Amino acid sequence: MALRTIRLQGDPVLTKKCREITQMTPKIQILIEDMLETMYEAEGVGLAAPQVGILKRLVVIDIGDGPLVLINPEIISSDGEQTGSEGCLSLPGKGGQVTRPNHVIAKAYDENMNEMTIEGKELLARAICHECDHLEGHMYTEFVEGEIYDVPPEEG
Ligand code: ZN
Repeated sequence: MALRTIRLQGDPVLTKKCREITQMTPKIQILIEDMLETMYEAEGVGLAAPQVGILKRLVVIDIGDGPLVLINPEIISSDGEQTGSEGCLSLPGKGGQVTRPNHVIAKAYDENMNEMTIEGKELLARAICHECDHLEGHMYTEFVEGEIYDVPPEEG
């Protein structure tokens, strides 16, 4: 496994729509392992492939309950609302208030290309929405209510 370089806001790769993954390959398996390692090293709760420069529909998430790998994720239903602080590994040290659904259901494929459904509430719902936005070339900063503020490292 290897750490990948996290692309920062301003890098054009973060504004592009990502392509679907049609089959698992050794290259994508390595990418998944590298993305998990990179996310943990950066102490993030999620990372999308475009954040390491790869325009594929792949995200990894870990809100503290273990790693989740979502391939071609698609939110199929959402309800409720939560407003809270959000940050991004592509904009380190910053945060902003974003309103998201409080509950989402998404379908995706796992690392064995088996179809799965994932249900997320609160932080997991927020993370799924945030990472799916990356696959469409969007950053949370587009949806921030009010100012983007500095976040002390121990909170970010
Ligand atoms: Zn992000």
